[in-house]
Amino acid sequence: MITLTYEFKLIPSQQQIAIIEDMLAVCRKVWNYALRERKDWINSRKCAVNCCSLHQEYIIPGDTPYPNYKIQATNLTKAKITNPELKRTNAQVLQQVLKNLEKAFSNMKEQGYGFPRFKNKYRMRSFVFPQFKSNPISNEYIKLPQIGLVRVRLSRPIPEGFKLKQVRVVRRASGYFAMLSLQSPVSVPDTPASGHPLGIDIGLDKFLATSDGELIERPKFLSQLQSELKLLQRRLKLKSKGSANRHKLNQKIARLHQKISDIRKDFHFKLAHHLCDQAGMIFVEDLDLKTWAKGMLGKHTLDAGFGQFFNILAWVCRKRGVYFGKVDYRYTSQICPNCGAHTGKKDLSERIHKCPECQYEINRDVAAAKVICHRGITAVGQIVA
Ligand SMILES: [Zn+2]
Repeated sequence: MITLTYEFKLIPSQQQIAIIEDMLAVCRKVWNYALRERKDWINSRKCAVNCCSLHQEYIIPGDTPYPNYKIQATNLTKAKITNPELKRTNAQVLQQVLKNLEKAFSNMKEQGYGFPRFKNKYRMRSFVFPQFKSNPISNEYIKLPQIGLVRVRLSRPIPEGFKLKQVRVVRRASGYFAMLSLQSPVSVPDTPASGHPLGIDIGLDKFLATSDGELIERPKFLSQLQSELKLLQRRLKLKSKGSANRHKLNQKIARLHQKISDIRKDFHFKLAHHLCDQAGMIFVEDLDLKTWAKGMLGKHTLDAGFGQFFNILAWVCRKRGVYFGKVDYRYTSQICPNCGAHTGKKDLSERIHKCPECQYEINRDVAAAKVICHRGITAVGQIVA
């Protein structure tokens, strides 16, 4: 089974824009209401047994069950009777909002993500139509429930044999977009492991190093744009809430965010193709990126967007018939690629690998990439044999 996401720009009419904005507003209200409900329940279970707060206490009867997805979805149906807003908004879209909230809570518990946040109008940017019975795309239009026939710029054809699973409508600084999740039941046979092997080590001061000795710098213009973004965000604090100036600045920030994510994605794609140009097999570290990101190097790691890069690389590899494999990431910087001796932990400032056993000397990141490459070849050899 293959899942692809295609993104197309929508060209909605003024009337359709009003509907989309209204749906976003209702989704936001449902999200905030449901989150409030969960937060209140959690807070009501928090007070000390022997005393009450001087300020306030949440009082929710002890036998009230925790408002999980099932309960909240039932309540949503009931609330429709008294609330016309909910009635006019597509039911599946609203259920999806509650599902997302449920997911946000389980992500918090299981993956250590932050506590789900209330959303203002800038933070509620998309909603999902989770089901389509028939193909909604014809010529230059996509037929969406409630919104109707929306013009769409089909920048590339939907691949043959794929079925549309869901459509996410997204508002961005540059307009409205539809993200189509496409699924094919056919599984493509894995690319055979052969050809020139290339190990890749991702890093913090440079973007990555290859086992062939190439070092790829993190693009400078990206960090420039990012400091520009930080400056704007700092200025936001000076603007009073709800003011026209704040609104303007918020839109400027949104446009810059968009620009950064577009440029980064473009860089990732070009780099992935560049790597595929020179290899038949590519091996990367099987990092649990999320765990790593939580550590002290967190910010940089997320900035660099390694998670997205690996996904794009895997995809480009499959398209270009290059084998893509992940290997154990541990101790890659502590082993000599030349003789295999354990050389011990390196300080982050130590930029050169110098083996005390065999005197082999090389850039430390390239050394790690070589170790990754060896591991990949060994792993593939075991599969073949
Ligand atoms: Zn050595």
